[in-house]
Amino acid sequence: MTPSLIPHPSSLQFKALPPLSLYFHIPWCARKCPYCDFNSHEARATIPEDRYVAALIADLEQALPKVWGRRIHSVFFGGGTPSLFSAQAMDAVLVAVRTRLTVEPDAEVTLEANPGTVEAGKFRDFRAAGINRLSIGVQSFDPRHLKALGRIHDDIEARRAIEIARRNFDDVNLDLMYGLPGQSPDEAIADIDAALGYSPPHLSCYHLTIEPNTYFHRFPPELPGDDATSAMQDAIESRLAAAGYEHYETSAFAKVSGPLIPHPSSLIPARSARCAHNLNYWQFGDYLGIGAGAHGKLSFPGRIVREARVKHPERYMAAAERGAPVQDEREVGAADVGFEFMMNALRLNAGFPSRLFEERAGLPLTAVLRELEEAERRGLIERDHRRIAPTPLGRRFLNDLLQLFLREKAAV
Ligand code: SF4
Repeated sequence: MTPSLIPHPSSLQFKALPPLSLYFHIPWCARKCPYCDFNSHEARATIPEDRYVAALIADLEQALPKVWGRRIHSVFFGGGTPSLFSAQAMDAVLVAVRTRLTVEPDAEVTLEANPGTVEAGKFRDFRAAGINRLSIGVQSFDPRHLKALGRIHDDIEARRAIEIARRNFDDVNLDLMYGLPGQSPDEAIADIDAALGYSPPHLSCYHLTIEPNTYFHRFPPELPGDDATSAMQDAIESRLAAAGYEHYETSAFAKVSGPLIPHPSSLIPARSARCAHNLNYWQFGDYLGIGAGAHGKLSFPGRIVREARVKHPERYMAAAERGAPVQDEREVGAADVGFEFMMNALRLNAGFPSRLFEERAGLPLTAVLRELEEAERRGLIERDHRRIAPTPLGRRFLNDLLQLFLREKAAV
């Protein structure tokens, strides 16, 4: 039984609610990749596109009272493989959004695309539907590694997809992975160089990890050792820094433009092609998650609520049709909010303005002062009166840094 969402006073106090993003989950893929633990399902027969779009719109409709009067800062279609859907489907969802909510005029609207599903005409139609940023799951340019990752595309399709994307979109992200089965540091750098050849505004470089409930977990491939992957990580970071990319989050790199501004111990760019949608997550903004298994975080006067939709696509559609797509809902207590804020904001290499903690977590910074002092004493963060940021040591041992804020829960 889902408890009611009637706001009630608690110890969290917000002067204003944070920016609100909108996430739509499309839960199907042409084939399940052996390393993937996302809520994605192999499309064995025809995807019920019309019924799913109707379910997304019904889900959005029933969620409106929770976000009434708020403006939409960004929209993201993730998955799964959203590019399996037609441009008409995306258009129907975006029209439904715009007729029910106020979307900021310059809002970033991203669609995740798989190179195996790219057609030039379809990308043009996505652009015409209002998608203004494309995120392409390239992963590698090496056919041997793409095969080992079980991807449906090869290197030629990856290159073709990027060329089509660059012709139709100014704002493009390429997803790459490193630490792949049998990969050498030189091969990891060759992938970065191939990506740089297209001058993408944004790159995401993920370390392949073996997650429970995946094929790779049951049948583990031979991966490069820790020393080799650390060498890859260092080489990737140096290469991208030299090419003019800001490493602004654990795995995210954005092309820099604009002047540099002072930061406690370095300079950070005033402007770069950072992903506005993900940045809102990392700055502990709000997001409404619509679709099978989508998660959301919403602030109300006095409290923060996290919610999750029914996970399985078929059951989700039936639940949305009944008007009950939300499966779980929990309030983030004052004991947890410090940890949850830090878990996001300390992923940002430049950290966060000190005032953001109070604005987004709804507690004074003194609520985590003991933990901040301990983190500073261990050399894991640096701070002045304006900003708090992880040090290079804190970034490398992020889990240890975050553990300090978990202690707060036990103490409350
Ligand atoms: S394409 Fe992406 S979401 Fe789909 S199975 Fe592969 S990794 Fe997962």
